[in-house]
Amino acid sequence: MNTDELRRYVEFYKDLGIKDLYKRSISEPTVDPSVTGADGLGPEWHRPPGLCPPSELPSLAPPDDTLLKVIEDIGDCHRCRLHEARNKIVFGTGNEQSKLVFVGEGPGADEDEQGIPFVGRAGQLLTQMIEGTAKKEGIPLVRKDVYICNVVKCRPPENRTPQPDEMEICGEFLFRQLSIIKPRAICALGSTAAKAVLGTKEGVTRLRGKWHKWRDIPVMVTYHPSYLLRPYNQNAKREAWEDLKTVLHYVYD
Ligand code: URA
Repeated sequence: MNTDELRRYVEFYKDLGIKDLYKRSISEPTVDPSVTGADGLGPEWHRPPGLCPPSELPSLAPPDDTLLKVIEDIGDCHRCRLHEARNKIVFGTGNEQSKLVFVGEGPGADEDEQGIPFVGRAGQLLTQMIEGTAKKEGIPLVRKDVYICNVVKCRPPENRTPQPDEMEICGEFLFRQLSIIKPRAICALGSTAAKAVLGTKEGVTRLRGKWHKWRDIPVMVTYHPSYLLRPYNQNAKREAWEDLKTVLHYVYD
């Protein structure tokens, strides 16, 4: 492996939240099959409680990656429990060469039915926010000019928040989408998207309104449209419009 490949590996796993990578010892201990258990460990070796069985790391994105390859790799995905109740995998929609990508949390009922992100009530608000702000700011932009996707591609039951392992598994595909599109900016909608993209536990209130980075790409965090649909969140609505204005001017001026 050359330095460039090694750098890509480290970056890729860092994005997945895997901060420590260990180099396997060159001289693996030899195991005598007559004295090993089913897991290849000696009979006197007991796995310490809480230590997970070794899991396979996800494969590295190919250097000539495309969105089509990502869709092919996702396939009829059974990698996590979210496949059990899903109708459609919701991959992403919009301009695949867009300078701006919006990342939401995960499909809801309408999205699960249609296979398209942000088509329900929250989606209609997102469309209004994008097109309304663009028009007001004199930027010729409609929804289909941007790219919209989610952290997880299958609907979580009862629209619950995706669990860390679901985010980690599906995050591989989100990062590939972002690396392929290479937008000028990313807008993370809500705390799940912020957590996945920035690897932070910080809430939206603290993160919003300023620029962060995913690799070299500027990231703006703002409120999720579902949150803005609640009637008592008028201040948040105003702030979200401000965030969007900042993003649109940065990307399209
Ligand atoms: N909420 C999301 O986060 N994504 C969708 O696609 C719809 C609602």
